[in-house]
Amino acid sequence: MKNDKPTDKLLTSPTRRDVLKTGAAGGLVLAASLGVGPTTLEAASLQVPRRVLGKTGETVPILLMGGAMPLDQRFDPKLAEAYRYGVNYYDAADCYAGGTCETAVGAFHQRAKLRDKIWITSKSDEHDPAGFEKTFNESLVKLQTSYIDMYFLHMLRDPNKLSPELLKVLEKLKKEKKVKFFGFSCHHGNVPELLHKAAATPWVDAVMYRYNFRQYGNAELNKAMDAAHAAKVGLIAMKTQGSAVSFEEKRHEFEQSGKWNKYQAVLKAVWADERISAAVSAMDNLDKLHENVAAALDKTKLTQAESNEIWRYAAATRSLACDGCDHLCGPQVEAPVQIGPTLRYLMYHDVYGHADTAKELFRALPPEAREFRHVDFRAAMAACPNGVDIERHIKRAATVLA
Ligand code: SF4
Repeated sequence: MKNDKPTDKLLTSPTRRDVLKTGAAGGLVLAASLGVGPTTLEAASLQVPRRVLGKTGETVPILLMGGAMPLDQRFDPKLAEAYRYGVNYYDAADCYAGGTCETAVGAFHQRAKLRDKIWITSKSDEHDPAGFEKTFNESLVKLQTSYIDMYFLHMLRDPNKLSPELLKVLEKLKKEKKVKFFGFSCHHGNVPELLHKAAATPWVDAVMYRYNFRQYGNAELNKAMDAAHAAKVGLIAMKTQGSAVSFEEKRHEFEQSGKWNKYQAVLKAVWADERISAAVSAMDNLDKLHENVAAALDKTKLTQAESNEIWRYAAATRSLACDGCDHLCGPQVEAPVQIGPTLRYLMYHDVYGHADTAKELFRALPPEAREFRHVDFRAAMAACPNGVDIERHIKRAATVLA
């Protein structure tokens, strides 16, 4: 996919209002979503900048449209509005939104006749070669396309899954022109190990992983990112908000100073890292989309005061943020509970406002992983580097996600 839009024709400091002024197409995309309007989407005059995605050699917008949210199955206005600002990379997965993300992206590009103008990444939860190929072919059907730009192993944890057998399947799919690039996403605590593995695996084109302002001082992660970047593995940041459970009060404090709201500021902090090609964001309403686009369009750097505010916010909310490193706390519990995923689903519920998705994910855990009564979390809490009050949050998860 080549970008056929102007890449850097930007104002110095566009605000959300500027974005709306230059491209207010809400009526157009809404009409299209109702099936009564035009399907041709006009590009806005402001286009989000692009960066090269590692060894793919392709450019992608620095802001990517995340698909882990409910989407209109007929024609989603958010997908359309993103496209108008050059956010033409859609991040799907076979499991997102209860399996409906891929069908929504498929309906969108079919309706607007945009397949060759957009980049679609999708992912398989199946990590064994046969299951991977089966899911891939199902994704093709749901996405209504003959090819997928990039396909990921979703939530990779075991580096050995990047096996010669998987490579064989991938080579076959590439020969059939069904896929262009390959990579993986990782949500667990062994991101540095997986980034080193990606750096040493020539057929891994890109990795999507948790990266945000809370991790800038992490020497092990930085070393792994350097290795992957040097090997031209495209790096995509997710979970950029570094969201913390029950953080609203601190967020309001944060936003009283500086020009950016918290969501914009932490995105800008990620983009300041030139090893990162792009940040993915599930922009579940047009306001959030316009705010993120305005932040992406803005060329100014965060001021020292704004950066200091981010560090202060990180410190103030550290014990409310779970980094998913449950290889540290998990072994300390004598029960088959899953602390990292459970706290992540609680965050989806509390912070992202995706209550239904959070409940669905939680209920998909094995029954024994949802049984918290009589579990002693004291050793796990002592092992947590963030000082998370695991017991309190897990009990809350058991109540609100059950
Ligand atoms: S509770 Fe602490 S140790 Fe466990 S996954 Fe979260 S941050 Fe890591």
